[in-house]
Amino acid sequence: MRLILLGPPGAGKGTQAQHLVQRHGIVQLSTGDMLRAAVKAGTPVGLKAKDIMASGGLVPDEVVVGIIADRIEEADAKNGFILDGFPRTVPQAVALDKLLKSKGLALDAVIELRVNEGALLRRVETRIAEMKARGEAVRADDTPEVLSQRLANYRAQTEPLVDYYGEKRKLATIDGMKSIEEVTADIKRVLDALNESAAKPAKTRNKARKPVAKKAKAKKAVKAASAGRTAKKAKVAKKAAKKTVKKAAKKAAPKRAAAKKAKKSAKPAARKAKTTARKGAAKGARKGSKASSRPVKKVTKKPAKTARRLTKRG
Ligand code: ADP
Repeated sequence: MRLILLGPPGAGKGTQAQHLVQRHGIVQLSTGDMLRAAVKAGTPVGLKAKDIMASGGLVPDEVVVGIIADRIEEADAKNGFILDGFPRTVPQAVALDKLLKSKGLALDAVIELRVNEGALLRRVETRIAEMKARGEAVRADDTPEVLSQRLANYRAQTEPLVDYYGEKRKLATIDGMKSIEEVTADIKRVLDALNESAAKPAKTRNKARKPVAKKAKAKKAVKAASAGRTAKKAKVAKKAAKKTVKKAAKKAAPKRAAAKKAKKSAKPAARKAKTTARKGAAKGARKGSKASSRPVKKVTKKPAKTARRLTKRG
């Protein structure tokens, strides 16, 4: 499993990451921890990062991306990992996408721990007091002034990742104001749901397809019904066409009588009138029946089958 924990400083990412490490047997990759180790060891990266970190600023993207690229290559990360504190900017997220893609890997989820800022300050103050009480060294950036700078950075640089991963449908937002145990349980629920849907893709897909198939059948049935209606329409049109033929013949009749009375030379003219009338009527009839019969042929065949199928299967 590959996860990202997203949230402002003091949101509880580290605490929850540890639960996840125990539960899923995957490693926690905290860029903050790695950078602090680099500062302590006095490596070139550490030297670069030291002052930036102490002031609550962000270490350059290429530095942290480089650290992560190397780290996920290590054997213990092959099973999966939880990224804590990375990515922290959109360019870092883009770089991570590229990195994972190049290795044929994908992210499973991004879990955002949402907390309010007032609570964050109180949390960090409590953390500092507890560390001091245990005789531990307090982080150089764990002061109220630097914390407000870290928060400002989070809002400006990191919070856009909520939209970034939201659009990729990877984001799950969890209320980080609840107790540690409740947050752990909420994260578990999100991951369980994720695992479930990954484990039963076929079943889920079939379930999802059923209503669609039913919908398609229903559509065909509606078409079949409307084909019936079209057939009726065609009958009516044929009747109307017949009427038109009769009318046209009647209309032509007086002309014929007049022609009889007329001289011999008038006869062909009368005949012509008769033919024209018939032709016109027949044309009208053909037109009427053609227009309505075309869709009837097309639609009745298939939907009739579908309708039978529908009744067979219920
Ligand atoms: P926080 O409690 O503020 O989340 P972290 O332990 O994650 O603290 O990080 C501490 C400091 O390390 C940050 O304030 C920043 O200077 C630096 N840092 C950690 N991760 C990153 C990162 N992904 N990009 C840039 N700087 C980082």
